[in-house]
Amino acid sequence: MKTNYHTHSTFCDGKASIEEMVQDAIASGFDILGFSSHAAFPYQSSWHLKNDKYDEYVSTIRKLALQYKDKIQLQVGFEADFIPMVLEPSKTKLAQFEPDFLIGAVHYAVNYDSPYAKGYPQEESNFPVNLFAVDGSEEEVREGLKNMFDNDGKLACQSYFAIQREMATLSDYDIIAHPDIIRKRNAAINFFSEEEDWYKHEITATAQAFAKSGKVVEVNYGGISRGTLNDTYPSLDFLKILRSLDVPVTISADAHGVGQLNNGYDFAVQQMKKAGYSEFYYLDNKKWLQSSL
Ligand SMILES: [Zn+2]
Ligand SMILES: [Zn+2]
Repeated sequence: MKTNYHTHSTFCDGKASIEEMVQDAIASGFDILGFSSHAAFPYQSSWHLKNDKYDEYVSTIRKLALQYKDKIQLQVGFEADFIPMVLEPSKTKLAQFEPDFLIGAVHYAVNYDSPYAKGYPQEESNFPVNLFAVDGSEEEVREGLKNMFDNDGKLACQSYFAIQREMATLSDYDIIAHPDIIRKRNAAINFFSEEEDWYKHEITATAQAFAKSGKVVEVNYGGISRGTLNDTYPSLDFLKILRSLDVPVTISADAHGVGQLNNGYDFAVQQMKKAGYSEFYYLDNKKWLQSSL
């Protein structure tokens, strides 16, 4: 089986239409393709699915699912943001759109100890809290770290992983997104070291929270296909801890354009094998099944 549930399109911040991504997936040999538009309903920003486009997004995928059903299975999903006390990934809250699956994602750093720290202004957003996206532009991350954490990278990481662990306690979604995407801008900004004990402690505690949650964690190669980080999220060290705790994993492209679905897939499989995994999980008609790597 070759599957991917993490696909963006022009409905959010992707560069290709739904149908172009479907054709790319077929050409790349995928059996199942899930779409996961960025969703913060009822909030939104410049990179989220707009609140008046949800119905069109869903109907577009459902229509193409019928049209292409002999070639590929298409699924409707969302990459739903978690912002503590503001927003959580929830199938119940998105029930009117009847998603097949939900990916829960932490993109935003929020400092609840310093709620008036200003973060970074979000374009076209209506969020009721100050925040910044840890995988935003280099400028956004630099400014966010300065404004919200007084340039204390360790504190920012600890806050970020605490939010990941809090999301793991929720139950109404299926897949945990890119669990250490805070690494994305670290090569450029160098605000923490993955070699330090406190960092290892954070990823270990987070892996334990994931294990307890029973959720499937994605091995996301979007950094490779988008040319921002030549590694998967999670890192190999993080993946080894997940393996030691028997946490189930799935493989995610996090594709934002044509040509990204295959770019990094083999590397992700290699990393999973290096960590000791011999199989991955995939969703078929809302049921988790296993396939060998
Ligand atoms: Zn994401
Ligand atoms: Zn994504």
